[in-house]
Amino acid sequence: MLPYYHSYTNDMEVDLAFERPDNLELALDALKTRAFRVIAGGTDVFPAVQQGQLPSAFLDVTRIAGLGGITRGDGTTRIGAATTWTDIVRAELPAAFDGLKEAAREVGSVQIQNAGTIAGNLCNASPAADGVPPLLALDARVEIASAARGTRVLALSQFIQGVRKTTLAEDELVTAVLIPDQALGTRSAFEKLGSRRYLVISICMTAANILLDAQGRIAQARVAVGSCSAVAQRLPALEADLLGKRLQDVTVSTAHLSPLSPIDDVRGSGTYRLDAAQEQCKRAILRAGAV
Ligand SMILES: Cc1cc2nc3c(=O)[nH]c(=O)nc-3n(C[C@H](O)[C@H](O)[C@H](O)COP(=O)(O)OP(=O)(O)OC[C@H]3O[C@@H](n4cnc5c(N)ncnc54)[C@H](O)[C@@H]3O)c2cc1C
Repeated sequence: MLPYYHSYTNDMEVDLAFERPDNLELALDALKTRAFRVIAGGTDVFPAVQQGQLPSAFLDVTRIAGLGGITRGDGTTRIGAATTWTDIVRAELPAAFDGLKEAAREVGSVQIQNAGTIAGNLCNASPAADGVPPLLALDARVEIASAARGTRVLALSQFIQGVRKTTLAEDELVTAVLIPDQALGTRSAFEKLGSRRYLVISICMTAANILLDAQGRIAQARVAVGSCSAVAQRLPALEADLLGKRLQDVTVSTAHLSPLSPIDDVRGSGTYRLDAAQEQCKRAILRAGAV
């Protein structure tokens, strides 16, 4: 056992280990030695555990120094992996982050937002993860560390590879989400549709980051849609068509939605999702652009 762990082992029925290291080096060393289930808020991990199939070893990352909190500098906003949605809601951030804050307020309930973390949302890689579209619209990157290979940084669009699938290796942890400084004046918005108003899995959600020039024309646009494909998608054709347009001239066509491939499921049909995405894109763009 490595030193400085708060460790609880119940060897009565199962050999259940719960490690809570307080520094990154110890955590990464631990991942070399045993197949731990990494856990932060546990709001995705615990509901997914099947009866009688509790992992035998948990590695809790919430006490690791430097993994919580938001810092700004060197052209980047660094959101520590274990930063909760409540931390994000409460943080003082530029208007470009309003869409991320709106999404944070939509993750489950206040109790879920108090425990659930930004990295947990990304690593769980659900198509309905509300954090992904606003982070794609912010051009976010994911910082990953391992004892063997040091640190690597990937675009979020490369990090999540499919339903419940990321590029993370077993000995790696996400250490932060990195967001490049956005052009001054960039604003953003997030739209979520569920089968009821609160505490609901998204049928479709959209985030838009918009910058207007001095004449009120769109100078920069990033739009991302979730729950309409295995992994949330940016809409490059829409983003390109928006450039130079005034807000009152914004239109969103079905052709703009071509990166999406929504499925039919209990929450909605693919056709319904596409209709919702088309409307949400317009609403998010107009709201982000409105002064
Ligand atoms: C009632 C309820 C409602 C919910 N509603 C929503 C919702 O509306 N929208 C939404 O998007 N989500 C929702 N969720 C899902 C969940 O709350 C979020 O995805 C949350 O952000 C997960 O964070 P966590 O810290 O709890 O993750 P955990 O459950 O601790 O971990 C999730 C995954 O990430 C991995 N992981 C965590 N941190 C790291 C790290 N630093 N490095 C490597 N791997 C890591 C874990 O191994 C696991 O695979 C809901 C969950 C519940 C229980």
